[in-house]
Amino acid sequence: CGIIGILGKSPVASLLFDGLKRLEYRGYDSAGIATLVDGRIDRRRAEGKLGNLEKLLSSEPLSGTTGIGHTRWATHGRPNEVNAHPHATEKVAVVHNGIIENFQELRDELRAAGHVFVTETDTETVAHLLTHYLDHGKTPEEAMSMAMTRLQGAFSLAILFAGRPDLMIGARRGSPLAIGYGNGEMYLGSDAMALAPFTSRICYLMEDDWAVITPEGATIYNQDRLVNREVKQTALSGALIG
Ligand code: GLU
Repeated sequence: CGIIGILGKSPVASLLFDGLKRLEYRGYDSAGIATLVDGRIDRRRAEGKLGNLEKLLSSEPLSGTTGIGHTRWATHGRPNEVNAHPHATEKVAVVHNGIIENFQELRDELRAAGHVFVTETDTETVAHLLTHYLDHGKTPEEAMSMAMTRLQGAFSLAILFAGRPDLMIGARRGSPLAIGYGNGEMYLGSDAMALAPFTSRICYLMEDDWAVITPEGATIYNQDRLVNREVKQTALSGALIG
């Protein structure tokens, strides 16, 4: 339902939480965040209101300067902690808005290849599909490009890779996603509201775009062609909406 991602320079957990607060208006049934802690993926997820996630984060804080967050509106799988995003393997963590229509077919294939699924969600297949490609020696960029050809349905995605605090990948097909440009920090958000506290320089991805985000900026691809998308100055700055 709502996505926020931050590739930052200082601890991001509380900033991700602020981004999720901005997305609350869209409605949700559970929420979670993942960060890279010494290169490893760590997560906190909770059913229900953001207050539950907040309590969890205060009793079990999450460090890390790169992370992703999500408010979920369940379509596949009950609204509980196990099904809450981010979904992760040892190698990737994924947040997703929308529906992966061919998840059953992908799940069967990946199970046959030895992947073990622990949730009832369509989203978990994205984490395992990318992991499958990484296991076969692909780079995160190659894995994403290959995944774009296999995933059907509507999705926006934000993805973290273990060992790569300098990298975040976003993708958009049938569900909006925007890149926010900060000063040395970079952001992903499912709408400008989520990005408003952080930056007013925003670039909306177009249909089928996927973007490689690093501290230096974003490289955007569409069907493996490099594309240029305009960065706009938006009036929704953090200063303006407080
Ligand atoms: N289909 C995914 C799920 O049920 C994502 C739902 C959403 O957009 O929040 O977990």
